[in-house]
Amino acid sequence: MDFAEFVIDVEHSLEEHIGTQLKKLNWYAANDFTAGEHGGTHIDAPYHFSANGQQVGQIPLNKLIIPLIIVDIASKVNDDPNFVLYKHHLDYMLNDNMGKPCLIIFKFGWSKFSWDKKKYLGINNEQLNFPGLSAEVAEWIVSSYKNVVGVGVDVASVDPGSSTDFPVHNVLLRAGLYNIENVYFERPVPDHGCTALVMPMKIAKGSGAPLRLVAICPKNKPELF
Ligand SMILES: [Zn+2]
Repeated sequence: MDFAEFVIDVEHSLEEHIGTQLKKLNWYAANDFTAGEHGGTHIDAPYHFSANGQQVGQIPLNKLIIPLIIVDIASKVNDDPNFVLYKHHLDYMLNDNMGKPCLIIFKFGWSKFSWDKKKYLGINNEQLNFPGLSAEVAEWIVSSYKNVVGVGVDVASVDPGSSTDFPVHNVLLRAGLYNIENVYFERPVPDHGCTALVMPMKIAKGSGAPLRLVAICPKNKPELF
């Protein structure tokens, strides 16, 4: 598949040149904003943890418009903020053929807490506490599933909230995958058959970027991966 992209540098702004004319209009809206690269739903580029890794603007479109696999582990998590996902939780996946390039999103069932910051992040004094992946699962993905280009989670980090050394970030980003954090499940998404549109703001040299994430799903779920 071929992709075309249309981007112009933000320095090509009209407003600074014709600002006074714009002020004469009946209605004209244009805001400024500032934001961290890693707030809300966002992408972590490999560069976030790997000095030679791809920056946001270098991630190719064929990794951003990509088949989507949802791994729903919410019933295993059972709202436990201490839950860590190990390989044995995923043994049922070992024989699934996900041979084509794909994005995997692990659904911990945490989106429902996203309106309550304290609960969502498990804030307790200076500590955070929410579920995440183990290093074992990250290593398994990069060694056994070479077709996976990115890993998403519906929690604030791919590492558990209590982690201080971020092994999952290290393993995935250094292997050249990207992460998506704070995925919000507005409604159920089929576990396979959908195409993800991963649309980060194109911060050319970004270590990450705010992200709009969309799934396009067929009306009828296909039988096979
Ligand atoms: Zn991040």
